[in-house]
Amino acid sequence: MSTGHIVTVLGPVVTLGIADAHNHLYIGRVPGAPDDAPALTDSEGVARELIRFRAMGGGGIVDCQPGGCGRDGRVLRALSEQTGVAIVAATGFHRRRYYPPDAPLFALSAEAAASYFLGEIRGGLEETRGKDPSPQPSPGGRGSKTEPSPPGRGGENVYPGVIKMAAEATLAESPAALFAAAAAVAAETGYAIEVHTERGAAVEALLPFFVDRGVAPERLVFCHVDKRPDVGLHRELAAAGVLLEYDTFYRPQYDPERGVWPLLAQMLAAGWGQRIALATDMADPALWAELGGGPGLPGIFTVIKPRLEQMGADAATVAGLLGGNICARLRLEDNDE
Ligand SMILES: [Zn+2]
Repeated sequence: MSTGHIVTVLGPVVTLGIADAHNHLYIGRVPGAPDDAPALTDSEGVARELIRFRAMGGGGIVDCQPGGCGRDGRVLRALSEQTGVAIVAATGFHRRRYYPPDAPLFALSAEAAASYFLGEIRGGLEETRGKDPSPQPSPGGRGSKTEPSPPGRGGENVYPGVIKMAAEATLAESPAALFAAAAAVAAETGYAIEVHTERGAAVEALLPFFVDRGVAPERLVFCHVDKRPDVGLHRELAAAGVLLEYDTFYRPQYDPERGVWPLLAQMLAAGWGQRIALATDMADPALWAELGGGPGLPGIFTVIKPRLEQMGADAATVAGLLGGNICARLRLEDNDE
């Protein structure tokens, strides 16, 4: 019987359990990238917090940092091995502004970009792949040793489990070739897409864009849409099948008491609990409890979950919001891969 699977950095699993639907566990500094690009490099602190998350009942994290802007699949794998938390890595692309000005990704044709995304899905994240997938004859002749794996990491390929895309404020301003490529790869592989939105902008245009390209709404996750708490719009997107990702619980600048919490209450009252996934999106180290801020991952259990229960959400709804819904979206048919 086919149950489906989710691709994590340590291999396929059936479920993540309680999971953060959109987060960042490591963001390296990229030479040439703007100084204000997010960086999150204290992996020891992140590991301590993941261990706390695990101890409190946490199971998984979707890491939404794509390649070329600070992702390191070797670090993600080490974090998962060290902490027991399942981690889903992303292929795809982030906003143009987080890359160096000459980033090759943004000059690719749609075909070339699709082959890069598909290459990561089939062959593993670039930074985790064996140095040379098609060994060339070395000047020393046959039998020379292949290049060593990255130090200390065993050289096993890490595969992405989701496609991350980033929309600008309008579809017209978003990179057309990368958009076409990611949609084509999702349609071909069945992979889910997490789309960064600029505070929920352009979602009306995003949905038909994907549907026209053969990506079912049931494969889509629209991120950060609670920054635009228009309940009518949220109900329409939910009814169409999109999963809505909310993550401003710890962010006073988005006034969660007037934004995400009432929005969530209205969406639950309207019966859309299965179309929402909750997340922390902590690209900023100041949000991590173990990095001197907070409430961090423990806040899922000390802030978010109790508030959901206080709002009257039943156990199944809470389980869906805190993991079940994102897992259903990420799950691939067992014969897809
Ligand atoms: Zn993010």
